[in-house]
Amino acid sequence: MALADIIKPHIRDLEPYQPGKPVEELERELGIGDAIKLASNESPIGPSPKAVAAIRAELEGIHRYPDGSSFALRERLSALLDIDGDQLVFGCGGDEILELLAKVLLGPGDEAVFAWPSFAMYPTVVQGMGAVSVKVPLDDDRVHDLPAIAAAINDRTRLVFVCNPNNPTGTSVGAAEFDAFMGALPENVVVAIDEAYCEFARRPDFPDSLRWVRQRPGTLVLRTFSKIYGLAGMRIGYGVADTELAGYLQRARHPFNVNRLAEVAALAGLDDTEHAERAKRVNAEGIEYLTRELTALGIEVWPTDANFMLARAGSDTCQELLKEGVIVRPLAGFGMPEHIRISIGLPEENERLVKTLKKLGEAKS
Ligand SMILES: *Cc1c(COP(=O)(O)O)cnc(C)c1O
Repeated sequence: MALADIIKPHIRDLEPYQPGKPVEELERELGIGDAIKLASNESPIGPSPKAVAAIRAELEGIHRYPDGSSFALRERLSALLDIDGDQLVFGCGGDEILELLAKVLLGPGDEAVFAWPSFAMYPTVVQGMGAVSVKVPLDDDRVHDLPAIAAAINDRTRLVFVCNPNNPTGTSVGAAEFDAFMGALPENVVVAIDEAYCEFARRPDFPDSLRWVRQRPGTLVLRTFSKIYGLAGMRIGYGVADTELAGYLQRARHPFNVNRLAEVAALAGLDDTEHAERAKRVNAEGIEYLTRELTALGIEVWPTDANFMLARAGSDTCQELLKEGVIVRPLAGFGMPEHIRISIGLPEENERLVKTLKKLGEAKS
């Protein structure tokens, strides 16, 4: 008997996730010490020092299981978001919330609808339950085509993901189109609005998604501490939903899925509004700079509301940048061989990227 014969086919056929190359690995390969990574949408300014201090203070207590209800964080966030505490579900990263949604909603024969290219975890969690992904192409501006997503919903649809701002394009949808989409959805599908990057959004008409959580049962808003709070390594995110949907996710999760250090770090991160504001400012300045410089180099870029941007840099550019010690994200796996996703870095990192692109361009001409 081959082991593969008894593994569930939809698991056997999953593509393993391809993470960005770690800086240390590239430095070892090239024998250099100054590689930079603009590939995983991590915070270039690092975590809040207050979060780091909170983690240190908590270390002495790690022989104890965490508070399985994340009481303190639940209190804090429910006040901040003006929702009931039992509308919140915490996860080991926002990724776990996506997985919980798939677990409670999907099985063989069920469908989940989402835009494509979008977050790589959507097809993974859908296939993980043996369900079917229905991928709806982005429009010509690489923005969610909400009417096409609505049209793809049928009797088998259980779950719809809307990634706003969208990863890996950085594009976003505004309140008018979003509200029209939400208002016309059939009742018996769950909509997950993935707002991993919403804190970076600069457009004034960015949708008020929590309004829909209050208004439409079966709506979940996903947020994370990985991006603007700079806590990607701690693994904590959350969903906000109506009480009933949140209750099903609660049943499906592990009792101690959020560890002690993650909870105190998240609390401290939330309190350090100055740090989050600085992250947003550094990001906005980086976007301005990179948009100007890349455009001047003849590289097409897309408007972004996130902490990364989409650029059409040419099909070999990722590999060439790697050889120069600059890690960006290739998008060939999304059917975009000429495009790269650039995480916005510190000013000196952005400058290094531009300088390297210039050098590569000159070598070619
Ligand atoms: C980063 C990200 C998440 C969540 O990441 P976690 O680190 O698991 O919290 C969710 N959705 C999108 C689109 C992301 O880019």
